[in-house]
Amino acid sequence: MPVNEKNYFDLITFLKPYEATLVAVSKTRKAVEIQALYDLGQRDFGENYVQELLEKKDKLPNDIRWHFIGHLQSNKVKQIIPFIHLIHSIDSISLLKEVEKQSQKINKQTSILLQAHIAKEETKFGFDSNELENVFNNDASLFTHAKIKGLMGMASFSDDIKIVETEFETLSSVYQKFKTQSGDFNILSMGMSGDYKTALKCGSNMVRVGSLLFGKRD
Ligand SMILES: *Cc1c(COP(=O)(O)O)cnc(C)c1O
Repeated sequence: MPVNEKNYFDLITFLKPYEATLVAVSKTRKAVEIQALYDLGQRDFGENYVQELLEKKDKLPNDIRWHFIGHLQSNKVKQIIPFIHLIHSIDSISLLKEVEKQSQKINKQTSILLQAHIAKEETKFGFDSNELENVFNNDASLFTHAKIKGLMGMASFSDDIKIVETEFETLSSVYQKFKTQSGDFNILSMGMSGDYKTALKCGSNMVRVGSLLFGKRD
């Protein structure tokens, strides 16, 4: 499926006043589709699967900033640490520890976001607000190479905009609170094709958009 050029430029225009970063979610898309969006100027791309990311990365320009946004298994961390720009989906302390360990090994600072559990759905991974509180107050200073830059969250898949809004607002207020405590903490990653406008209204400064740009996934 060809990249939707009009949607891309409309989205860029929409994001401007919010000064929000667009991560183009390219899971399941071929390298040529990613290249087409790259040729329009896009540099930040998000992937969900390590193997797929590694295969595509080699076929694409090396100034792409790769974001990892899917559930990450600890045993795969090592493979992405050397090049990953930002991991959005740190959803447990053990995963955070593994990122720290692998980053130390190659003496790299790895930027990460803590994934917050804000949706009602059981299937969504992430920390609840008490757990986030614990990480910040007890663990954060122990990590010297895994740098916590902000939070990521996904709202419920709901047509009820009030539900989505409430979830984003909850995350946004947790984010604001930590932001005042910590200097280098300035990314709030929330919003996808279906709910990015609501997310931006609630304070998001990074959206992860796939199907709006690339068309529906199979
Ligand atoms: C797939 C995915 C997206 C993008 O979803 P679209 O609805 O295609 O925009 C965003 N964030 C995460 C974590 C995803 O897995």
